[in-house]
Amino acid sequence: MRVFYQKSELNASKNKILAKSIGLVPTMGALHKGHIMLVKRALEDNELVLVSIFINPTQFDNPEDLKNYPKNFESDLQKLKKLKGNIWVYAPKASDLYSEPITAKLFYFGSLESTMEGANRKDHFQGVATIVQKLFEVLEPTSAYFGEKDFQQLKIVIALVNQEKIPVKIIPCPIIRHSDGLAMSSRNKLLNPKHRAMAPIIYETLQKASALKEKHSPVQIESWVIDFFELHPEFELEYFTIADAESLQKTSILNGTKNRAFIAVKLGHVRLIDNVKF
Ligand code: AMP
Repeated sequence: MRVFYQKSELNASKNKILAKSIGLVPTMGALHKGHIMLVKRALEDNELVLVSIFINPTQFDNPEDLKNYPKNFESDLQKLKKLKGNIWVYAPKASDLYSEPITAKLFYFGSLESTMEGANRKDHFQGVATIVQKLFEVLEPTSAYFGEKDFQQLKIVIALVNQEKIPVKIIPCPIIRHSDGLAMSSRNKLLNPKHRAMAPIIYETLQKASALKEKHSPVQIESWVIDFFELHPEFELEYFTIADAESLQKTSILNGTKNRAFIAVKLGHVRLIDNVKF
């Protein structure tokens, strides 16, 4: 494994080896098994795997959230070192990717970004698209691996690649969960023990909501979820949405398997998201 802090050094080395397939796994670090699954998948498909570790400031609308985002660089490197294969880590400072003042580029993703995470985190996807485009331009991967944990982000990245005609294949990967069902997330480390013990309720609720779909409409299921969290005031429900998995627009009729249910809740100060096929 090699570690690079500057794109110029990484690209100089990359130009020497002429890898035919390069898989990129963009991350913000504090790596867990969800990230590692993406890296393993990329190792199966590519001669060289690049793992970027960079907490992208332009996708945070809240400076406290950015400041408190978990960091564990040394342990991240240890986890990656255990994997067999050709892994290069790219861990830049902001100045290697952004000029001052650090700002996001403007994109138009229409209704894909006006809902859920886009509606609740101001300019979040403008920041995501900005950094993903920069990483694609700088690192020129042939494929890039994204988790369905951030399903809306995955759709935005696909739209970005189509809009900007970036020659990279986007590979979606399934959500990895703890044995109690909680979706793995770097943010789980921020939960206090009481909230960590309660957090599996998020996925349980998604599953219970899914079981209701045989006999109930999306509107009825949504109000059931709202009522459920009113009875559990430790959780602050931000949204629960049953949407078409392509357009991400709220659906009022369940059409076969093309739907997904999305949820965002706060437990104390920690904001968690999850989604399931519906
Ligand atoms: P992050 O470091 O949170 O920005 O995530 C980096 C990548 O890992 C994104 O493509 C995420 O969707 C993906 N990811 C994060 N958590 C999981 C998980 N539990 N299962 C699958 N992919 C994940």
